[in-house]
Amino acid sequence: MQVLLVEDNTLLASGISQALRSAGFIVNHVSCGRDALTAIKTSQPDIVILDLGLPDMDGMAVLRSARQDRFLNPVLILTARDTTLDKVSGLDSGADDYLAKPFEIDELLARLRALERRLGGSKSNDLMIGPVCMDTKALEVKVSGEALLMSRREYMLLKALMESPNKVQTRDMLDSKLYGWGEEVSSNAVEVHIHNLRKKLPEGFIRTVRGVGYVVKSAT
Ligand code: CA
Repeated sequence: MQVLLVEDNTLLASGISQALRSAGFIVNHVSCGRDALTAIKTSQPDIVILDLGLPDMDGMAVLRSARQDRFLNPVLILTARDTTLDKVSGLDSGADDYLAKPFEIDELLARLRALERRLGGSKSNDLMIGPVCMDTKALEVKVSGEALLMSRREYMLLKALMESPNKVQTRDMLDSKLYGWGEEVSSNAVEVHIHNLRKKLPEGFIRTVRGVGYVVKSAT
């Protein structure tokens, strides 16, 4: 799950980024509206966290412009403005949720999980395919009830595959869900993680589509 954080307060931005990363999200950060619009267009984030008071333009204008450009993924507004009128106009402009500053990071995480569930059309924090069950709140994966030990990247890779079952994902698509901008990535990083995951998962759980990418199939 790739999150775009639009926030001009650097201290707050780094705190949020850190918390989100340890919760298994990939976070890319921009601090002005112009950069936000470019990032939304070029990287199609899964979720946008949008501050309203930005140095160059109003966050609400960013939101309207992104929606006009047919960006359909969830946007969560984060702001110090917490009057009812502001909330209503934010939601009317196409925001999916609204969180007033100051807030608890746990609440932000819970709301992100809710948006994530909505994206995946699911009502619970569990992703279940065959014998494999992923609890996205506890960041835990079990196979036939037995917990697996895995690295954060392995977990994120498996999550990316399990969130979109039956959809073949290329190495580039998976890279963008595992690494933020400017992170040093070795060219075969995804292959290495897949190799390690396969040793832990039931045989044939992650399938290779030769020359295209990888897929996890849900039982039909
Ligand atoms: Ca601000």
